[in-house]
Amino acid sequence: MSEQSAKAATAESGGAPAGDLFSKFDGIIQTRENLLSQGAEDPFGLVMEKVLSPTRAICNGRDTILLGTYNYMGMTFDPDVIAAGKEALEKYGSGTTGSRVLNGTYQGHVEVEAALREFYAMDHAMVFSTGYQANLGIISTIAGKGDYIVLDIDSHASIWDGCAMGNAEVVPFRHNDLEAMEKRLRRIPEGAGKLVVLEGVYSMLGDVAPLKEMVAIAKKYGAMVLVDEAHSMGFIGPNGRGVAEEQGVIDDVDFIIGTFSKSVGTVGGFCVSNHPKFEIMRLVCRPYVFTASLPPSVVATAATSIRKLIQGGDKRAHLWENSKRLHGGLKDLGFALGTDHPQSAIVAVIMPDLEHGAAMWEALLHEGLYVNLARPPATPAGMTLLRCSLCAEHSAEEVETILGMFERAGKAVGII
Ligand code: PMP
Repeated sequence: MSEQSAKAATAESGGAPAGDLFSKFDGIIQTRENLLSQGAEDPFGLVMEKVLSPTRAICNGRDTILLGTYNYMGMTFDPDVIAAGKEALEKYGSGTTGSRVLNGTYQGHVEVEAALREFYAMDHAMVFSTGYQANLGIISTIAGKGDYIVLDIDSHASIWDGCAMGNAEVVPFRHNDLEAMEKRLRRIPEGAGKLVVLEGVYSMLGDVAPLKEMVAIAKKYGAMVLVDEAHSMGFIGPNGRGVAEEQGVIDDVDFIIGTFSKSVGTVGGFCVSNHPKFEIMRLVCRPYVFTASLPPSVVATAATSIRKLIQGGDKRAHLWENSKRLHGGLKDLGFALGTDHPQSAIVAVIMPDLEHGAAMWEALLHEGLYVNLARPPATPAGMTLLRCSLCAEHSAEEVETILGMFERAGKAVGII
């Protein structure tokens, strides 16, 4: 390209040199700049300067109630969990510096997998460095060339990325639609391998999948079933095993994917299964093999937390009370919610558009409340949401305080 035509190309692309691989992000850069020019605080750049408890932090110099974390069971400050982490840090050092299949399996990794097998009453448990990697690894490895993955269109990004990483045919169906799911399964050629991928709780709207019916349909067509229970572990089901347990179909689910980054209160991911050949995954699953294992302190906190969650019946009951009160209270105030009735610990408040969403987010922050501002592509149907996720450590009084904050902010912004 001549100097002149290079200059012309630069001028056309608004200052960026021709061939700048960042130009594809110009739209999102503009949207972000517009948003920041309206409000003083960046909804995607909040810093927790000090964390006081599972439900309170100092954010932008303000004492803030946290209503936008995945700390459902409030385990992050549990004294036993913290003690286990400190002890492991002292005893085993700060990191493993290696893969699980080489030098990265310590006693703590074996113990956290034992805790998971006990928690789920399943034969096999395999721990990954994140839940994202668990989906990426399991989905891309078990469904190969010539196989079919049938999945809900509102699946989490890690599920989609697992599909993209593998070689299977990917067939999405309309969210939670039994008929659509069956139609896709019926069309798959006879004899092809089939994996149905579902979630227990869908994290954007907080709605639950009709797993009982869906698992029955999958089995009718000879498909294996994977359920991501990231947002239900520890909370939903008599033993906190998730929606599959709650709906009585856990024995028909082939793989449960979960994470340590929500109810467990640390970081890490896992898959549990009763499949007799499951252990081979440790040798063939690339996001398990080709990455470093979790630090000893992390697996120690996870194992302690998981064992305590087994006994978490009272906390589960209180979290349900909190979720029902917040859902009912917001509905009575006139907010549009993601579900008609409370189905999980996530209550999604639907905003008319991104501008109102950002204004409401900021008004709540000024009240001393942190919630998640969620927008496409994370949200379905182009929605802007203020996502509230409750914690078993929120007191009943705190929930009332939160409702008062929503009422004042909603009126100030003109949403109710
Ligand atoms: N699955 C679902 C449904 C999730 O919501 C998330 C995280 N938000 C993950 C998987 C990934 O979990 P992790 O944070 O452990 O990577």
